[in-house]
Amino acid sequence: MRYLSTRGNSPAQSFTDILLAGLAPDGGLYLPEHYPQLTRAELDAWRDLPYPELAFKVLEKFASDIPAADLESLIARTYTPEIYRNARAGDDPGQITPLRWLEPGLAILELSNGPTLAFKDMAMQLLGNLFEYALAKTGQELNILGATSGDTGSSAEYAMRGKRGIRVFMLSPAGKMSRFQTAQMFSLADPNIHNIAVTGVFDDCQDIVKSVSNDHAFKAEYKIGTVNSINWARVAAQIVYYFKGYFAATRSNDEQVSFSVPSGNFGNICAGHIARMMGLPIRQLILATNENDVLDEFFRTGVYRPRGPAETRSTSSPSMDISKASNFERFVFDLVGRDAATVRALWQRVETGSAFDLSGSPHFSRIKDYGFVSGSSNHADRLATIRSVWERYGVMVDTHTADGLKVGLQLREPGVPLVCLETALPIKFEETIREALGREPERPAGFAGIEDLPQRFEVMAPDAEAIKNYIREHRDEP
Ligand SMILES: *Cc1c(COP(=O)(O)O)cnc(C)c1O
Repeated sequence: MRYLSTRGNSPAQSFTDILLAGLAPDGGLYLPEHYPQLTRAELDAWRDLPYPELAFKVLEKFASDIPAADLESLIARTYTPEIYRNARAGDDPGQITPLRWLEPGLAILELSNGPTLAFKDMAMQLLGNLFEYALAKTGQELNILGATSGDTGSSAEYAMRGKRGIRVFMLSPAGKMSRFQTAQMFSLADPNIHNIAVTGVFDDCQDIVKSVSNDHAFKAEYKIGTVNSINWARVAAQIVYYFKGYFAATRSNDEQVSFSVPSGNFGNICAGHIARMMGLPIRQLILATNENDVLDEFFRTGVYRPRGPAETRSTSSPSMDISKASNFERFVFDLVGRDAATVRALWQRVETGSAFDLSGSPHFSRIKDYGFVSGSSNHADRLATIRSVWERYGVMVDTHTADGLKVGLQLREPGVPLVCLETALPIKFEETIREALGREPERPAGFAGIEDLPQRFEVMAPDAEAIKNYIREHRDEP
């Protein structure tokens, strides 16, 4: 399997070539040159596989340059009941992503039972093992520089902690993360993890990462890498649970299922799109946004209008607070018939802060063929959904999952089972749970009192040069 850039001006690469890379050299995103097409016999054979074996079957199609035995053992170490041990009482952690029926025809796919209680662990844990494997093979090292407002940073740190050849430098806005998220990250004692609390806002952190990455000499000398959501391996790992969820929700491969997906950077639902393109019988892909509705606007109107920082709102589903969706270019590449020249022209507009409008184009009418519908949710919807799911089913959902449920229930087709992806556990967003339910969220065993553990972090000004110096000083540590 080779990978090409959505902008068409970069040479084709293998899976391991692009594993540690971010953007393609021409500024585009990598995608497989074609999507593997599944036969009915394959689907039937995959139906009853345990998660790690299913993951191997899916991922060997994409990571064809990793020896099968190596890939299989990496995957077997990644998806274990010990790592996904935070499943609710009554769930089987051996399922890795248990499916919970709320009522006939309506289910939640639990993706948040990993170490940081958010679905990002599903991909990031694999990335940690893949990175360590690839670096060991070539004797290289990697300094991961990232910016986080919460979920991504903790997920990356828990995936990379203790990994040979890897250091993590994670910038977060000082005092802006929830107490729980701060405790999760800052209580890590592993010497290869560096938490840097930047006295500024999230955008300052992101600007520093951009500025350091644009210093090509520094980037090369200090082997700077990222783990952001445009990484192809992250998308690939997420394809697996659409298969798992589909098999768990159906009895035969003649049935169809719709998925609703709380969306921000379009990474999660992009994996669903690819699963559908491979032949998984998905009826609808229901995209749910919060008040930051740039994606919902596109799927309803054909206009993609990235927002400025001042227009981006802070909401109670903060992991979906985005101004533009970094993975969206992958979908648009397919939508315009994989015509890289068209993608280049569209993103030339995006990069200068302009909108593009596909409403009049024949491409836009293909949205339906791809199964996409969309809607948005707001704070009041979120509270109402958390309440009604708790009252009706006795299940507590987090704010992002509530957005997905709200939009999914609104847009689903009758007669087709709806699977809502659970993207985090409620404990991560406890303030809103208290507001909705007047009670404390459930806290999985092992997370009691983490807010009281000693914390380790460095406070620094929003200054790229100072951050570079910090990286220079710590490059020789384990
Ligand atoms: C990252 C995240 C999302 C958004 O996922 P994308 O892949 O960026 O669309 C939704 N919910 C939670 C809890 C997240 O952490």
